[in-house]
This record gives sequence, structure tokens and C-alpha cells, in this order.
Amino acid sequence: MTPVALCRCETYEEETTLAAVRRAVDLLGGMDRFVGRGQRVLIKPNLLSARTPDRRVTTDPSIVRAVALLVLEAGGEPFIGDSPALDSFGKVCARTGMEQVARELDLNLVELTRPTPVNLGEGAVFRNLEIACQALDADVVINVPKLKTHAQMLFTLAVKNLFGTIVAQRKTEWHHMAGVDRDTFASLLLDIYTAVGPGLNILDGVWGMEGHGPANGEARKFNLVAASADAVALDLCVCRLLGVPLRMFPLYRAARARKVGETDPEKIQMKGDNPARFAVRDLQVPQLDSMGILPGKFDWFTRRYLVSKPVHERSRCVGCGQCEEICPAQALELRDKKLTFDYGACIRCYCCQEICPRDAIGFRKGMLVRILNVLNR
Ligand code: SF4
Ligand code: SF4
Repeated sequence: MTPVALCRCETYEEETTLAAVRRAVDLLGGMDRFVGRGQRVLIKPNLLSARTPDRRVTTDPSIVRAVALLVLEAGGEPFIGDSPALDSFGKVCARTGMEQVARELDLNLVELTRPTPVNLGEGAVFRNLEIACQALDADVVINVPKLKTHAQMLFTLAVKNLFGTIVAQRKTEWHHMAGVDRDTFASLLLDIYTAVGPGLNILDGVWGMEGHGPANGEARKFNLVAASADAVALDLCVCRLLGVPLRMFPLYRAARARKVGETDPEKIQMKGDNPARFAVRDLQVPQLDSMGILPGKFDWFTRRYLVSKPVHERSRCVGCGQCEEICPAQALELRDKKLTFDYGACIRCYCCQEICPRDAIGFRKGMLVRILNVLNR
């Protein structure tokens, strides 16, 4: 059985989060099981962009602090690292509260740079990856994701959080390489997960995000800290708690097909608090459609008529240009605060929506989603 620890945590008050994280890790055998004396431990939070903790976009600093304290107690040498997609690492650390945690505990903040080739060999879909050397060189990686919905992948939880070990702008290149199919992108995420091999995953689900995640959704309280050595099992467990059928989750489909992590709910053992205490039945999740619904030769028809499209909400736009900069398909043009989309080139990755600081990129529902809505009534 693969254990996943679930612990109730209702506030980000430091002693409360420390108690919840400690309990979750103890349910898995204690931090000594994962960290040895003198080991260098990368703590990898979700530092998507320079937003304050109350926006619920990034891992809360009190959770990162609690993880670091447990690593220190176990004799490890923790440092905090990530590679934000656009904002400078210094600005992100200052805004998200990481700088304060690092100062208090005398930890290094390390920007993940220097892409290093990794050859995964047979069994991988993306055999040759480039991962930040700081993640590969660490003795142990502790992955500390945030619970959020995600426009492209349904959720961003433990496995998706490791996409941050791809260095900054290279993320867009990998997005482009994975192309339009969500299951292929899920496979890329699984290959990154395999390459980084986190020893432990601790999810911040005290507050999370629903709706237009991972950056512009609505904050929602889930009162959950969850932990597991198996990021796939952890993600599937959370998906089920949130009342979303596993088959809707691209990561589940890819992990099950490729036998990465534990995907059999019967073999996942939930420990700690009663799962019913975290059950959610009305979560607002992004409605996913897929470019892969028809064979490739009908791509133009699928793009044009069937799948949802990103659209500009000009009244909110400040013309910062971040969407244009991050678009992996160069499908955007910004002029005088007016965005023009090339829907023929757009791969529907929704990176533009994710990065926009003003929630000025929305969706126009495609025909597929509208049909599904009618069928589900
Ligand atoms: S849509 Fe958003 S990211 Fe793009 S220019 Fe406007 S405010 Fe910036
Ligand atoms: S326009 Fe937006 S959704 Fe389309 S490829 Fe560019 S970033 Fe992705």
C-alpha cells in the first residue's frame, strides 16, 4: 500500500501549520526517513509569480517554514529554490514571503538556473530533458505544491509543481514541444517527476484556488495538509477528495497508461484524519476540452469550431506584455493594449491566462464544452 497522509489545518498560524506538517510527515515515518544528517535538501514550493500569500497563488510561507524546520531537526541542510516563469526570482521571493522565512531560519534562496541534460532512456516519452542542475544536485528534493485548479491540466498539485525545475523561459519551449494534447503534456510532467525524483511531497491545501486557476481563480479554503512519498498517489487522492472523477484528470490517464506512481485507488492508503472531513462536492473546475478529439487532419476544424479559445478582456489589460512574452506558439500580438490571437497557431496551453497579472485573458467556451454542459444537466 502507498500511504498518503491527510491532516486538518485551519489556519496559517505558524504553530498550527508546524503541527499539521509534523503530523503528516510523522504519519509517513518521520522526517528522518527522508532526510539524513548533512544532506542538502531542496525545498521546492510553488512560486509561480510575485503575488502575496493572501492571493493563494503560491505556497504559503508558513508551510515552507514548517518543512524547513523539520529538515533542520533531522540534521539536513535545507534551501528554498524555484524558477519563476517571468518575474525576477528576487521579486518573487520578497512578495511571496520566502525572503522572510529564509532570513528567519538562515536559509539560502536559490534560483533554479543552468539547465542540465538528463537522459531518461526507455520508458520515458521525453527521453532527453533539461532540468535545473540545483534540483539534480540536491541530495533530497522536498516538493511543496499548492492546491489549485489549472486551465490546461485541471489541477496543479504535486507532479505539476515540478515543472518549476525547468529553467524559466525554457518552460515555454517544452510547452511547445508537448504540443496541443493534454495527455502528452501530462506525460512530460511525469518524465520531469521521474527525473527530479522528489523524496517527499507536502501539499499546501489550507487555502487553495478553484475556477480560473492557477493564477486568476477564486481563493477557497480546504483546511488540508497532505503528504506522500508518491506524488502521483497524492495528486489522485486529492482529486478524489475534491469530488472530481479521476478519468477527467489528464495526469491520471497518463500515469495509469505508463504505470508511473500508484494509480490504483485500492492500493492507496489514506492515513490521518477522516477523508470525509475534506470532501468537496461543489468545486469549480475548468471545463477541459481536447485538441486531440479528432484526427490530426481535422486540426483546423477542431481549433476553429470545437475547443475553447483564450480571449482578451481589454478593459482590464494594462499592456504589460507578459502574455506575449510567455506564449510558446508566438500566437499573440499586443498593440495599444489590444491583443490579437492567431488561433491557428495557438496550442491552447493557457500560459497567457496563467501569467496575466490582471485577469485580462478569459475563455470563450468551445462547442465541445457547451455540448458537455447540456449532457451533464
Ligand atoms: S492581457 Fe494581461 S498579460 Fe497581456 S498585456 Fe494585458 S495585462 Fe499584460
Ligand atoms: S495564445 Fe495563450 S493559449 Fe494560445 S498558445 Fe499562446 S499562451 Fe498558449
